[in-house]
Amino acid sequence: MIPQNDIIMHSSKQTSTWQQQLADVVSGAEQLAQALALPASYVQAAQTASEGFAIRVPKAFLARIKKGDVNDPLLRQIWPLSAENAPPPAGFVLDPLGEAGSNKTPGIIHKYHGRVLLITNGSCAVHCRYCFRRHFPYADNALSSQQWLEALNYIKQRPEINEVILSGGDPLTNNDKRLQSLIHAIDDIPHVTRLRIHTRLPIVIPARITEQLLANLTQSRLKIVMVVHCNHANEIDQEVAACLQTLYRAGIHVLNQAVLLKGINDDLASQVNLSERLFDCHVLPYYLHLLDPVVGAHHFEVKQAAAQNLMLALQGRLPGFLVPKLVREVDGRPSKTPIITPITPISSLEGEYGAI
Ligand code: SF4
Repeated sequence: MIPQNDIIMHSSKQTSTWQQQLADVVSGAEQLAQALALPASYVQAAQTASEGFAIRVPKAFLARIKKGDVNDPLLRQIWPLSAENAPPPAGFVLDPLGEAGSNKTPGIIHKYHGRVLLITNGSCAVHCRYCFRRHFPYADNALSSQQWLEALNYIKQRPEINEVILSGGDPLTNNDKRLQSLIHAIDDIPHVTRLRIHTRLPIVIPARITEQLLANLTQSRLKIVMVVHCNHANEIDQEVAACLQTLYRAGIHVLNQAVLLKGINDDLASQVNLSERLFDCHVLPYYLHLLDPVVGAHHFEVKQAAAQNLMLALQGRLPGFLVPKLVREVDGRPSKTPIITPITPISSLEGEYGAI
């Protein structure tokens, strides 16, 4: 019998659990090409490119990709290109955020004042080709019970830490029971007041937001912030919208962070539509990240000047609260680095980006 709290809450079909959807994935280039009616000539390059970072696409996400369209903005996030194996340009490295140096104890990344990242696991529902952690040593951060205690002790011993950020992988791939015990353990540390969850699951598999998960979050004394990751309005279908509205009604603050990706969302219409669609679902745009320069993802890069011009145009179209902060993460800095919007378009790009 399927436990009640694992049944999809929002689908009229209500047939599969989130765990079933998490397992129901396409992981081969040929299978993906067939499912999406892509040219067979694309398959070989995708197979080679996926050797270092496997394809993984849940069918729940696949259903939102337009068949036969090689430029679909969701497809481009998950389809490996031969460019991934090309020699990386200068500045593109395996660990662009220098996380190895901040991995203070297994499971903990401590970079910024007052907050730490807890790596809860190394798995994600979907593999995004631009991921800055595509080379992260998750195996070294798979924690034994003893190491969990040590990670929690690290937080307990530092009264200046008032916020814990659950990260991964995707922390919501952990089951509700495991999350519940983790939330209880953090709840017991008096100086921690906020719990932030960085997750792509409400977007990829909205059925993940179960009644049990909501209960675990809302019964905690901690203020809960959920930062979802959505790059394009097409990712938000009816079921995702219902999931985001459920989180809002439960009193959870939901913010979005996106990555600015060439050929996917680096145009004005895509950014306007994304912000409007998010707000329709009670989600505020939070960060728009410049691509982290990780090996294998350089073909997604949007140059900073082009991004600044795009932000200038976006500010002319939307109220301030719907304009995300354009930021770059720079190894060694004490916070994200805001990228200031120019007062007028950066002239060297006016021709190239005139359509903005
Ligand atoms: S969900 Fe996040 S951590 Fe996982 S592959 Fe995508 S970008 Fe990377």
